Amino acid sequence: DKFLDGLTVGYDIPALPGMRQEEIVTPCLVIDLDRLETNLRTMGDFARRSGVKLRPHGKMHKSADIARLQMEIGGATGICCQKVSEAEAFVRAGITDILISNEIRNPLMIDRLARLCAEGAKISVCVDDPDAVTQLQEAAVRHETTITCLVEFETGGRRCGVSTLTELLEIARAIVAADRLDFGGVQAYHGMMQHIVSYEDRRSAAIKSIQHANAAVEMLRVNGIRCPRVTGGGTGSYAFEAGSRLYTELQCGSYAFMDVDYARIEDESGRRCQDFDQALFLLTSVMSTSSAGRAVCDAGLKVQSVDSGLPLVHDRDDVAYVSASDEHGTLTDPYGHLAVGDRLRLVPGHCDPTCNLHDWYVVMRHGRVETIWPVTARGKAF
Ligand code: PLP
Ligand code: MN
Repeated sequence: DKFLDGLTVGYDIPALPGMRQEEIVTPCLVIDLDRLETNLRTMGDFARRSGVKLRPHGKMHKSADIARLQMEIGGATGICCQKVSEAEAFVRAGITDILISNEIRNPLMIDRLARLCAEGAKISVCVDDPDAVTQLQEAAVRHETTITCLVEFETGGRRCGVSTLTELLEIARAIVAADRLDFGGVQAYHGMMQHIVSYEDRRSAAIKSIQHANAAVEMLRVNGIRCPRVTGGGTGSYAFEAGSRLYTELQCGSYAFMDVDYARIEDESGRRCQDFDQALFLLTSVMSTSSAGRAVCDAGLKVQSVDSGLPLVHDRDDVAYVSASDEHGTLTDPYGHLAVGDRLRLVPGHCDPTCNLHDWYVVMRHGRVETIWPVTARGKAF
């Protein structure tokens, strides 16, 4: 791996190819490559069988290598991004078919978006305000390019998106009328619903959301506007959108890695949903066992997001991660099993914000480091 030349383990990078887990410098993110590949194939096969396109969310992993893998083996036709700078990082790495599943309102960033289009990337973006249509049209004129715009429709997620059919139609008409904009369809993504634990509650929230989206497409149809694409859906709801005969594209992100939060959601039979396996781990080392009954590890708040709760210790029920401070994690160790230097695999509470805290993924297969991948778009928040 030529890109590793000149990089120092323990300063620039956590590991080199060929290392065993005990040799990896922690804390760092570790990917179980077999599991990642299985997750990608599972979703890809599902989308193909369901007759919907799959555009996984790149904001989750922020990795060009994983995006490429999603397209090579995981049935993806492109990716989603949330920010222009994030999209730029992917485009530079050769991933050029991107939906920015978000509103972009800063004039400088709209200009950069138009420039990406002018340079040949296939970018589309969401709008929920007629003023944004004007801004995007002006930027497209400046760069002599065309920008594909989707209207975002709010279907209960209480985030961006217009919530009335009148506004939806008004914006769609404005896009159609703007000579440098293409009307790309409707985005209807309901974020909160993804994480509802009960299957029945999640299903009824999804059905409601899909009914709203259906009304949006119907509104366009009766007004003579063809809707080429209906996009949305996440790891908690993808089967509902895929079965709706309305959605044409899924935007799932977390399915590739999974996390503690998504491991809680249930399937039809009330058991933990097993569609995807945990493929991402936060590798940590025990650094102190000075007090009986507990141990301290080197993974604290600076290497993980705890907004969805603390991490779980993978494959161990004798120890538990019970509190996090800046650089420390405290574990209960009632049997005194842990020793300094022991490696533990933590399952992050929430994958997306955790990944953004790291520069590298250590990619492992069969107990060895196979390669390391940069977190390409890390920190690209503009
Ligand atoms: N689409 C949009 C617009 C999102 O904001 C997100 C994540 O929050 C996703 C798709 C991916 O969802 P998930 O990670 O739940 O699969
Ligand atoms: Mn998330």
